[in-house]
Amino acid sequence: MTILNEKQQVLLRKIPSVDSILEAAKKTELFENTPRPVLVYSIREAIERLRIKILNSDITDSDFSEYLILEQVSIISKKAMSLNLKRVINATGVVVHTNLGRSLLPKEATQNLVDISSYYSNLEFDISLGERGSRYSSVEGILCELTGAPSAIVVNNNAAAVFLCLDTIAKGKKVIVSRGELVEIGGSFRIPDVMVKSGCILTEVGTTNRTHLKDYEKAVDDETILLLKVHTSNYSIVGFTSDVPLKNLVELGRAHKILVMEDLGSGTLIDFSDYGLQKEPTVCDAVKTGADIITFSGDKLLGGPQAGIIVGGKDILDKIKKNPLTRALRIDKLTLSALESTLNIYRDPKRAVDSIPTLKMLLAPIEKIENKAKKLYDMLVSINNSHLNVKILNLSSKAGGGALPLMDFPSKCVGIIINGLSANYIEEYMRKSDISIIGRIEDDIFIMDLRTIFEEEFLIIQKAVKNILKKV
Ligand SMILES: *Cc1c(COP(=O)(O)O)cnc(C)c1O
Repeated sequence: MTILNEKQQVLLRKIPSVDSILEAAKKTELFENTPRPVLVYSIREAIERLRIKILNSDITDSDFSEYLILEQVSIISKKAMSLNLKRVINATGVVVHTNLGRSLLPKEATQNLVDISSYYSNLEFDISLGERGSRYSSVEGILCELTGAPSAIVVNNNAAAVFLCLDTIAKGKKVIVSRGELVEIGGSFRIPDVMVKSGCILTEVGTTNRTHLKDYEKAVDDETILLLKVHTSNYSIVGFTSDVPLKNLVELGRAHKILVMEDLGSGTLIDFSDYGLQKEPTVCDAVKTGADIITFSGDKLLGGPQAGIIVGGKDILDKIKKNPLTRALRIDKLTLSALESTLNIYRDPKRAVDSIPTLKMLLAPIEKIENKAKKLYDMLVSINNSHLNVKILNLSSKAGGGALPLMDFPSKCVGIIINGLSANYIEEYMRKSDISIIGRIEDDIFIMDLRTIFEEEFLIIQKAVKNILKKV
């Protein structure tokens, strides 16, 4: 226990009471604008800070002024009232950044979302028949149209989709998976764990780097209900490798009357190789190959809201739709509205590439990114401060979201160096500014990748840099 000196004891007695501060607050706007419990909490917190300052012998007379105490209370209550989930600037260059909200919705989707959530809708009402309708009917048709699958349903996320499929068709039965595909996705989604939880019996075949058709053939028996292929979306096995194409699994499945499912993970509706990127398997390809069930995410490369999309044969999808778990995993109208508008854009692939932010950022021509980098560079140089050194750097971005893991996207970044401030200090300051700016540090330089920054965010960045220069 610390022994207080006499001066500290005197000061501690000087701390005003909660009631007296509350009384003083009554004369201010703060009192009118702050709910009472928040105000009382903020006063207590301000008093506690004062106490700590006294104990640390870090106090001046002015700290006791009513004005300054009320100012502290105001700062604390504003913070307490502000929302926790908030907008940030993604300067990391990782397009589908799982920690920063994955995909951004296209403008049309956000507009539709506002309309659908501000007014009543026909969520479960069939307008033409005037009777109860299905929640999923708004997206099933377009999913079938875009993927070529006979039937579709959507649940909360792809993890739920995989779980629901296994629960519906494979409970208590054998499911065969290659050892090279027992993936773990960020956020503790592990294929083996999901399989165990769904009650199916996991049968691993092959080795980490090589699995052959004969490995599957040997494992098939009367108990086997499903061959599961999992897209190794967030890593790649390179070197001496071999996996069995979906096509061969489908043939094997047909021969033994066993179902075949592919968890595509990201699942894209456009072929990235048409745009000069690495090939990611498309949903259409998987459907054409004849797989019985295909699952993929709504908010990875598709660029829509969080959702888990299941497409496949009608009989199986009917079973899935009847599973009581489907009700527990059902998506809400906000997701549905955003998903339908996003899918609607895909009817014209050119428009999709131009207006779905995830696709637009992934496919952005380097000249466009360079122009943005130059603009931001100019805005920062115009601050005209001798401590500030701004550079344009040629670095690369990543797709993120467990997609195109090996691909480096050449990009343009703006790096800032401030004499007298470390890169770590700058990173933390930018991260904690009013609107967080999340960048990275490379070679002791704070880096912002222009691939994922919007021009309308430049002023915010400029302001944050101006503020940080006051710290030099
Ligand atoms: C991302 C991913 C999942 C999980 O999808 P969520 O939409 O995040 O739930 C499942 N399987 C694979 C292969 C994935 O890449």
